[in-house]
Amino acid sequence: MGTEIEEIKAKLNIVDVLGEYIRLDKAGANYRALCPFHNEKSPSFMVNEEKQFWHCFGCQKSGDIFAFVMEMEGLEFREALNSLAEKAGVKLQSYSPQKSQEKNRTLEILELATKFYEVQLWKGEGKEKILKYLKDRGLNDETIKEFRLGYAPNGWRNILSFLLKRGYKIEEINKTGLLVKKENSQDYYDRFRNRIIFPIGDFSGKILGYTARVTPGGDESQAKYVNSPETDFYHKSRILYGLDRAKIEIKKQDAILLVEGQMDVIASHQAGIKNTVAVSGTALTLEQIAIIKRYTKNIQMFFDMDSAGENATKKSVKLCLSSGMAVRIVSLENGKDAADMAKENPKKLEENVAGALPVMEYFLKRTFEKFDKNKVEDKKKITTEMLDIISNLENEVEKNYWIKKVAQGLGVSESALTDELKKASLKDKNYKDSGPKEDIERIGPKTKKEMLIWEMIGLMLVSSFVWKKAGEEAKTNKFFLPDNLFKLMVEKGEEVNFDLAILLNKIIDNRELSEKAQTLFSRKKYQLNLNNNLEEIIIEDPWKEFQACQREMEREEKKEELNRIGNDLKLAEERNDVQAKMFLLEQSDKISKELAKLMEL
Ligand SMILES: [Zn+2]
Repeated sequence: MGTEIEEIKAKLNIVDVLGEYIRLDKAGANYRALCPFHNEKSPSFMVNEEKQFWHCFGCQKSGDIFAFVMEMEGLEFREALNSLAEKAGVKLQSYSPQKSQEKNRTLEILELATKFYEVQLWKGEGKEKILKYLKDRGLNDETIKEFRLGYAPNGWRNILSFLLKRGYKIEEINKTGLLVKKENSQDYYDRFRNRIIFPIGDFSGKILGYTARVTPGGDESQAKYVNSPETDFYHKSRILYGLDRAKIEIKKQDAILLVEGQMDVIASHQAGIKNTVAVSGTALTLEQIAIIKRYTKNIQMFFDMDSAGENATKKSVKLCLSSGMAVRIVSLENGKDAADMAKENPKKLEENVAGALPVMEYFLKRTFEKFDKNKVEDKKKITTEMLDIISNLENEVEKNYWIKKVAQGLGVSESALTDELKKASLKDKNYKDSGPKEDIERIGPKTKKEMLIWEMIGLMLVSSFVWKKAGEEAKTNKFFLPDNLFKLMVEKGEEVNFDLAILLNKIIDNRELSEKAQTLFSRKKYQLNLNNNLEEIIIEDPWKEFQACQREMEREEKKEELNRIGNDLKLAEERNDVQAKMFLLEQSDKISKELAKLMEL
């Protein structure tokens, strides 16, 4: 596999690959950008074209094109490899560890099943009533085909026997969520029967699951929608319906439109609003927001003040705000959804979306319309509703601005509202803390010793002279660092001519070590200065610096030893072990002297 990766890397330039996702600005020999993996206002993300990797000084993430695409698209290494191989025109030999082989089989089955349902809709039982129904709802042939809608015919073993006949084992089929196991038996039957099928794909359009709607005139006593269960590969909390078709448009418009259901997505898409997605079968999750943020920070949502879904939508709004998204609200006429509007008057829908109001403006307007600000009771309600939203804003300036607005509107003092806000924030805190935290914690050395090790490896990476010399010393047992990357660099130094770029190609399969090497190199080679400009760190004499670290390291080790002896001494005293005490005191004395000597250096 290593050579394939090398080939891909040789054919693709990191600047081109990353440039498709983020805006890169030339800064000296490097490129800079706003980091797509953490929130920031000034760029600390660096792309090193010469060595073909990137590093973020903010969140300390590093990597090559593969790591970037994995992180950006939420892919596993193998998936990123496939996608970049395609881009580079490199043919991959079949290499499949068990897990990905299993995934391939599952995807294969789901793809076949989707085709099966499509055929049933266009040529089979569904041709008459279902196709007509979909067209009555305003969808045209092209759209139905594009979203791969289908029909699951009535009966217990349609998809099951279809797939068995194609050589798949029942256990494999069962993993896709297409079947239901009969209670107290080894029998399985089709999950979707006499239903309209909406296939749900991942960001690249691979089908992972389905939503199945009851047919018109079908058994309405059953649930209106039946969904695929969670499987090893289908996680509802990470899926945004329609993202595969919407992602380019989302980037282009720098905005995403979130609608309620699959039909809304499809209808909006047909109406020309192509940056539309929906969550399927869950409330909006932090995971989904994280995915959206890879493409844009601007989210537009529909919000019907009078609907029963008001609380759910409000929750989504709050979640978006506290994740630093900019939210706009599209108003809807009472009781109508996006699909209705798209069918009746696509132009109107487009206008409404274009006229979406920033969320705070929207709420301010609606809340003051809903209540009578001259009544004391209503004043309280306005305060509660507004603070409930304001408390989620990330930016303090913005918070203050809206408090002022509400205070003005109500004719009360700002400080009264600020006090109330503090209470509201406290109440909200528990809920916010329970969610998964965004991974922006700085990764860094945890102990002084680790810090020294990072320094020394960094010096070896930026100076081939130091690398060579340190390698020689390590090989003759003069010193050693307890670190995998160090060990590798000592072993492979000569072979890679003490050059990081060549080393990276050699350890291309070892994601962890190559990321570490890139991080340590970047930390030692560049820094962000006070003006937040990227500058190269000038090291006068790297070998001298390395030796200073070595001495510091020895001191640390002596100190650690003294600590250990100190602990043992306590134990010996407790046990009244005179002999041990004598011995330990002698040791302690010896090491103290050695340490003192080292301190003089
Ligand atoms: Zn970052």
